[in-house]
Amino acid sequence: MNSFQSVRHLLHAWQPEVPVYCVYPHVYCDSTQHFLRGFPGRVLYAVKANDEPAVVRLMHQAGVTDFDCASLPEIALVSENCPGATCYFMVPVRLRGTARIAQERYGVRHFVVDHPKGLELLAGEIDMKRSVVFARMAVHHRSAIYDLSSKFGAQPEEIPGLVKAIAALGAEPALAFNVGSSVRSPDAYRHALGVAAEVLAELPFRLRLVDIGGGYPRSYPGYVMPPLEDYFVAIREGIRALPLAEGGEILGEPGRALAAPGLSALVEVLLRKDDRLYINDGLYGIFWELRFEGHNRYPVRAYRNGQPLGGEERSFQLLGPTCDSTDSLPGAVDLPADIDTGDYLEFGHIGAYSLGGRTRFNGHFSDKIVSIEDWRELPPM
Ligand SMILES: *Cc1c(COP(=O)(O)O)cnc(C)c1O
Repeated sequence: MNSFQSVRHLLHAWQPEVPVYCVYPHVYCDSTQHFLRGFPGRVLYAVKANDEPAVVRLMHQAGVTDFDCASLPEIALVSENCPGATCYFMVPVRLRGTARIAQERYGVRHFVVDHPKGLELLAGEIDMKRSVVFARMAVHHRSAIYDLSSKFGAQPEEIPGLVKAIAALGAEPALAFNVGSSVRSPDAYRHALGVAAEVLAELPFRLRLVDIGGGYPRSYPGYVMPPLEDYFVAIREGIRALPLAEGGEILGEPGRALAAPGLSALVEVLLRKDDRLYINDGLYGIFWELRFEGHNRYPVRAYRNGQPLGGEERSFQLLGPTCDSTDSLPGAVDLPADIDTGDYLEFGHIGAYSLGGRTRFNGHFSDKIVSIEDWRELPPM
């Protein structure tokens, strides 16, 4: 991967005609270690948030040793890029045969189920005696932007039966849930841990592992979330009431919180029409997450001739390069009023749910990824 000291250096050396995605190793290192220090349990990075090998390697270098994977290619990616790391196969419905390969080829020992038939399928593929199988519980809370319990999860009253069935098949049973994604209130974790405490208290034996999933949010312009510390406090409180076995441990699966900060997208202004800017990336590319409810823009900085562009600002609408008229970014952004064709825009904080969802629609796809050493000019929030 090419490395530049800063985006200014990059633009002096090269005026790319395709979008360039900039990895900031120091930003990923700092933000990941901040999460690792604050979270009261074991941190599994949810690979789907950003599966770019360079990013996954940075998570590992920053101290993440455990990875939440949902497919064989994700497990292979982590195994190849992060020697010594542990992969967890944390999706309750898998492609046929993949649990077997995950265990035989990659030594995966942690799996999840949410249904008796799913447990039977899993038990047919793996050695239950050397496995930990989580029962995934559905929990709902109004503060989650995306409800991750509408698709997966057994109802709390079904969990004791599932846990006993897992134990009867010889695996170590454990409990997992996912509050949601971009969870707006730490209360969602308090609430879910309360439900979990009730379920655990009903069991005839104590469990050792409880996986409280992902959902830790990040702020975006115009979309301010509580600080991560508030979530860590709520989780600390919630886990105090959990009846766990000796050596009990809490697991968390942050995706967005780890993936968002250290990536930017550098795009070119192809044409200015009054207050509309046509750019060379859009909703079929790096900006696809903006199709969904939640934040509607990223922090942005303008460049001209390799230098940051300042001055009086006005509001612009951004349009992607495809012929689809819905390829228009939902949030207007403030930019220098004289921004023009040939200038560049750098969108920061774009590392979560971005690279992994790019399409080739209309022939547009960029795979130019570079590393930027100096983090100080990353577009401010
Ligand atoms: C998507 C997902 C995550 C990560 O969610 P974030 O909101 O990005 O933290 C964690 N666990 C599971 C099972 C997921 O599907």
